[in-house]
Amino acid sequence: MTNTLDDKAIVKDYFNATGFDRWRRIYGDGEVNKVQKDIRIGHQQTIDTVIGWLENDDNLPNLSICDAGCGVGSLSIPLAKAGATIFASDISEKMVTEAKERAAKELADTGKLTFAVQDLEALTGQYHTVICLDVLIHYPTEEALGMIKHLGSLAQSRLILSFAPKTCLLTILKKIGQFFPGPSKTTRAYQHKEKTIIAALNENGFKIERTSMTSTRFYFSRILEAVRSE
Ligand code: SAM
Repeated sequence: MTNTLDDKAIVKDYFNATGFDRWRRIYGDGEVNKVQKDIRIGHQQTIDTVIGWLENDDNLPNLSICDAGCGVGSLSIPLAKAGATIFASDISEKMVTEAKERAAKELADTGKLTFAVQDLEALTGQYHTVICLDVLIHYPTEEALGMIKHLGSLAQSRLILSFAPKTCLLTILKKIGQFFPGPSKTTRAYQHKEKTIIAALNENGFKIERTSMTSTRFYFSRILEAVRSE
């Protein structure tokens, strides 16, 4: 049995408290422990992969992008710098406040970057591209599928997602506690079967265009770019 409201409340509380401190450090450039450093490097690879895809298309200044679950703005800020119009939101007020502060420091002009504190399933509007990186890991598959459906309804052309894939190796690593070490430091981490995620994207009118996988010692993220098939 899953309870979306409970799961969201737990995730929101976590990212407004201990999770905020932990992830702000990981997504920064200050001193961190070895595991956090590994996760920082892995996460940056995921961000770089997505930015690389979008830059290769050579049309960023024409794009409206929704960054759902934007965290501290690791993706939104460089995309705004590259000229895209970004709507970035997160369920955690603390993460959004931090993202705004970073944007003010890093961007000469923040005019193309809008932030909001919002649950991604409450988002409305239409965007050329909707991106949701490393958020689905916080929810059981059934809830993640509901989120994919909603995000898909906001995407005119493309949906880019990343998630921890459910593979035998990762399941074993998780069982022996190496996947996200230190249970008190994190919320539960849910892996999802790639074929289930792809089937949901297909059902919602998308086909897979590009894929990538980021794997470090402690960070695993499957990245899918899905484009409208009709
Ligand atoms: N996407 C960002 C990145 O890759 O840098 C942040 C990833 S961080 C692991 C997960 C983020 O998802 C947190 O900032 C958390 O507050 C946010 N989040 C979790 N559930 C959410 C929801 N239902 N709606 C919006 N944001 C959510």
